[in-house]
This record gives sequence, C-alpha cells and structure tokens, in this order.
Amino acid sequence: MENCLFCRIIRGEIPSRRVYEDKDSVAFLDINPANPGHTLVMPKKHAENIFDADDELLGRVIVAAKVISKKIKESLNADGINVIQNNGRHAGQIVNHIHFHIIPRFANDTVIISYPQIKMEDKDFEEIQK
Ligand code: 5GP
Ligand code: ZN
Repeated sequence: MENCLFCRIIRGEIPSRRVYEDKDSVAFLDINPANPGHTLVMPKKHAENIFDADDELLGRVIVAAKVISKKIKESLNADGINVIQNNGRHAGQIVNHIHFHIIPRFANDTVIISYPQIKMEDKDFEEIQK
C-alpha cells in the first residue's frame, strides 16, 4: 500500500534493521523496543489487521514468528518471549499493517504487560460464553 509505513519499510524506502526475511514474511527491529531484541514480524503483502489478513498467509507469518522467537530466545539467552498482536486503535494498534511483536523477556527486566482481572458472576460467564 502506497503510504503505509511498514509497506514503505518493506520496499526499502525507509531504513530498518532487518533480521529475517522469507518469501512471504519479513521481520525488523522495533525502533522503540521494550527490551533489546524486540522484533516486529509481518507479511510482506499489506493487510490491515487480523480481520482482513489472508488465512494461509497468516499461517505462514505465525510460523515465521515461531522461528524468529526461537532464534531470539537462543541468541539473547532470553528467559521467555511475549508474542503480542494488536488490532484496532483501541487495542493499541498504531501502525495499520498487521504485525506480531516478539518481545524477549529477562528475569529482572522492567517490561510491564498488564491488564486488569475483573470479577464476573457465573450467570455473566454463561451469557458471555453463548
Ligand atoms: P502497534 O502499536 O501498531 O502494535 O506497534 C507499532 C510498533 O511499530 C511500535 O512498537 C513502534 O515502536 C514501531 N514503529 C513505529 N514506527 C517505526 C519505524 O519507523 N521503524 C520501526 N522499526 N519501528 C517502528
Ligand atoms: Zn502496509
């Protein structure tokens, strides 16, 4: 897509620190990392979010995300990895080209990934399950 930031990075019009590439997927370092090694994995072909991404392509991108996660964990000696994917402005998506955040985690890091834990009654669970 002409003016999409990540499409422009993929086309090489904007520089990035590329760490992985295959036929369908590309990965580069996040410019504002949560931790060293924070990487963004995405399809080369533009799709806005999980709702409009092609199924087969998305499957291949998540496999690429797995390969990259393992590589990052090994090479940085990470204790864990968060894989995060945001859809829509109110879910924290800023760049509207679908991407997975691969965030290496270390025992004593300062990253906070947080959400509240709300109380729900049995009847509310039953309703929401439907
Ligand atoms: P979102 O909030 O859309 O899930 O995440 C967008 C991510 O893209 C952010 O973590 C942000 O730091 C990263 N980002 C934004 N602009 C650029 C850029 O020009 N280059 C790179 N490498 N990352 C970017
Ligand atoms: Zn794009």
